[in-house]
Amino acid sequence: MTSYASPAVTDTVLNFIDGTYREGSEGKSFPNFNPATGEQIGLVQEASADDVADAVAAARNALNGRWGSMTTSERVKLITAVAAEIERRSDDFLAAEVADTGKPRAVAAHIDIPRGAANFRMFADVISTMPGESFITDTPDGGQANNYTVRKPKGVIAVICPWNFPLLLMTWKVGPALACGNTVVVKPSEETPRTAALLGEVMNAVGMPDGVYNVVHGFGPGSAGEFLTSNSDVDAITFTGETRTGEKIMQKAAVGVRDVSFELGGKNAGIVFADADLNKAVEGLSRAVFMNTGQVCLGTERVYVERPVYEEFVARMKEAAEGFKPGAIDDPAYLGPLISAEHRDKVLGYYRRAVEEGATVVTGGGTPELSGPEWAGFFVQPTVWTGLSHDSTVMREEIFGPCCGVIPFDEEDEVIALANDSPYGLCASIWSENMSRGHRVAAAMDVGVCWVNSWFLRDLRTAFGGSGHSGIGREGGVHSLEFYTELTNICVKL
Ligand code: NAD
Repeated sequence: MTSYASPAVTDTVLNFIDGTYREGSEGKSFPNFNPATGEQIGLVQEASADDVADAVAAARNALNGRWGSMTTSERVKLITAVAAEIERRSDDFLAAEVADTGKPRAVAAHIDIPRGAANFRMFADVISTMPGESFITDTPDGGQANNYTVRKPKGVIAVICPWNFPLLLMTWKVGPALACGNTVVVKPSEETPRTAALLGEVMNAVGMPDGVYNVVHGFGPGSAGEFLTSNSDVDAITFTGETRTGEKIMQKAAVGVRDVSFELGGKNAGIVFADADLNKAVEGLSRAVFMNTGQVCLGTERVYVERPVYEEFVARMKEAAEGFKPGAIDDPAYLGPLISAEHRDKVLGYYRRAVEEGATVVTGGGTPELSGPEWAGFFVQPTVWTGLSHDSTVMREEIFGPCCGVIPFDEEDEVIALANDSPYGLCASIWSENMSRGHRVAAAMDVGVCWVNSWFLRDLRTAFGGSGHSGIGREGGVHSLEFYTELTNICVKL
């Protein structure tokens, strides 16, 4: 087994409950792999039903204890200290994230880890500057009343996370939950448990009260995920992951009428008009398709290109795709592995299906030629197809791999209809130098987030989420407060 210098990459990943690292009480564990090498790098202690119940009870006790009676400024101070401590230990977080995901170090160093810290700092700012609401109401007796609102934490929040940006997506929920005064029980993905576990050390280092942040490891059904969503002392569930998993979690949340916030799958469209700056469009869309090996919920898998520039666009996307290669982990052109053998097989299944559905494989379509133990992991080739019909399975289902189909179009109305013809509604990107067209087409997209001449440009104060099968609710900035707090309206007769 490889040995790593960082303490973050230990052989055994533990649960973190009530401020203490713990093994699972039933003595069960499961293996953890480095997807780049395919090598087992450790064992994860699986939380039992009792462990999950303990974590929820610890979270409840923390709400009823010192944490629950802190002022907003005391909480903000602690949350800001969490951000600073993540930054101080960024090398440890980086080692843990790269070990779990195999992703390029540059991606983890520039996106995952800094965003992990920013998610705490930004929501500390939001909660400190959040205005209240107040109305002076005329009353039937000719007098007046003052209506105003107070926000209270919702309670114990279950946070269930995927594996593609483990620290980033988890803290995107934990940051606002804690800023609003809630406590959390986090269930990280079974594929990527390390950064969530490591965050427990940060919480202890800054003096976060025990039980405010808890982590339980395991799987979904019949394991920690289901134990958590079934626990009636959980007040609300925030989940990022597959749409089908969201459906199952919603059924559990229905018991006790508990609130959910869902960030789910997507089948996102990119639209390139003939008047686009093709350099910008190819650069942006090649990131949108291939970054993080296509394992990005906001990634683009459908590209519609106006006919006059279609051939040129396809040729340039081919060239861009072929620039992404498995290579040194520090190389900016490194294309990392997929997360697991199971996911690689799923993606390769779609690669075969594309050919069955009549695709021309412009580039890629299989696995790269790699030799040596450092490449024994779950790599696939970056892939571009043409010739697929808009109705083909490959153009309708989320693949979550480094691939896209490119389809020509002739009219603006036609492409709006094609882009919107999906059960998903997460995001889209539009490429045009005609800004009135940019605004018009963006507003016509049935999605939660639409970019014009950019992709993945995020301001954490903005609303983030999807419509249709892509989610329920919006998080980000003040929008997160809608989910993580309950409002009480107080009406005072003057
Ligand atoms: P997944 O749904 O398989 O798993 C996500 C989490 O849910 C894991 O922690 C898993 O253990 C847990 N889980 C699974 N079944 C469960 C159950 N029955 N009860 C409780 N918990 C359960 O998703 P994934 O494969 O980890 O992630 C990839 C998916 O996430 C893609 O569909 C992607 O689009 C989506 N995603 C969406 C966003 C967004 O913001 N919209 C962001 C990232 C990823």
